[in-house]
Amino acid sequence: MSDDATPVTDGGESVADAADADPEDSPAIRRLADWDADRLSDIADEHDTPLYVTDLDRVAENCARLRAAFPDADLRYAVKANTARAVLEAVRDAGLGAECASAGEVRRALDAGFDGDDVDYTAVNPPERDLDAVVEWWEDGADLTITVGAADTLDRLRERGYDGRVCVRANPGVGAGHHEKVRTGGAAKFGVPAERVAEVFASARPDFDVVGLHAHAGSGIHGDEDLAAHREFLARVADLAGDVGDLEYVNVGGGIGVPYRDDEEPLDLDAVAAAIREELDGLDARLALEPGRYVVADAAVLLTRVNTVKGAPNELVAGVDAGMTDLLRPAMYDAFHEIRSLEPDSVDREEAPVTVAGPICESGDTFCEGRPLPVPERGDLLALGNVGAYGYEMASTYNSRPRPADVSLAGELLRERESLADLTRLER
Ligand SMILES: *Cc1c(COP(=O)(O)O)cnc(C)c1O
Repeated sequence: MSDDATPVTDGGESVADAADADPEDSPAIRRLADWDADRLSDIADEHDTPLYVTDLDRVAENCARLRAAFPDADLRYAVKANTARAVLEAVRDAGLGAECASAGEVRRALDAGFDGDDVDYTAVNPPERDLDAVVEWWEDGADLTITVGAADTLDRLRERGYDGRVCVRANPGVGAGHHEKVRTGGAAKFGVPAERVAEVFASARPDFDVVGLHAHAGSGIHGDEDLAAHREFLARVADLAGDVGDLEYVNVGGGIGVPYRDDEEPLDLDAVAAAIREELDGLDARLALEPGRYVVADAAVLLTRVNTVKGAPNELVAGVDAGMTDLLRPAMYDAFHEIRSLEPDSVDREEAPVTVAGPICESGDTFCEGRPLPVPERGDLLALGNVGAYGYEMASTYNSRPRPADVSLAGELLRERESLADLTRLER
């Protein structure tokens, strides 16, 4: 990490200070109920809705807890979970590296001040343009690592004169995760098939500085069952690492889960760390991890206002100004997000089954269906919890809806709201 990096200030308080905070002082998960309703209402009044509100101090706390659980590991934040510049800077100040899924993410990480040698580029079926750009930045002095998942990616790097750091991504044949769409460990798309890993290492070693073995099981490892499946994955990775030998590090990917429901216990990070240590015991290589979700999920909420209330046969429908274009996870992964009314009188209201629905012409554009919530009224401000990971990043402009703004809890504008003019800016 560069020493001269200026800490981001978040309302006067340095994020670096928060990173130094004792991880024991920060809860394992920040629940939606823990956010200050008055503060969020003020921010919504000032910046309008739909609106992401991101607590940069919470990002630093999450990094600090990871560091405490994995004191000797190389920790690289999976940038794709949330690429806001201020988030990247907070992660960098907390001493983590960056794992990037595209040239665009590599650019963002370098621009946010990550040293090249703290940047990994995981090249999944990398387009020519991405390889060209990343090799050019390497030639310019960014000593990054490229993680390759196919032998012919090595050929494409040779053609470009790249002989820098390479890590080989293996497909261990088992995956884990909260939804079939995020279980990558066994999907043929990702990584070199286990039985070909040794051969790929042998071919790479003369031409590159081969530093690591990588595998990623999937996203959202959370309960005991997941951890058991994860152990199986880790054991296979350990076998592969033993076979290829002579490695700087073994990267077991990301996938550390967070509880999305209030009645779910937080993940026991120490139990995950112990399982990893046990399964990789005896390997003469450093451990590397690249969590995304865990770093940012509970560091943001999405604020939205009720614009229409309608009685339907079995429920009330609260039409809100945020939709699947602002938060795709419920539509894409059937993901659950807690929803809280921020209205001061909501505690006195009766509860009723409420469907919270967005403004997009898609039946999947609902955040919940028939969920017990205080009876909504037009103008109410609602908050959706745990949206810091894969929230803003998956936002789109479908239905010609401009993307929302993103503001820090301290009130600093992180990402401007898109305008209608922005929607047509690229049209010719
Ligand atoms: C998405 C991804 C991660 C991060 O996964 P999380 O579930 O957010 O921790 C890490 N590594 C790779 C290769 C990924 O694709």
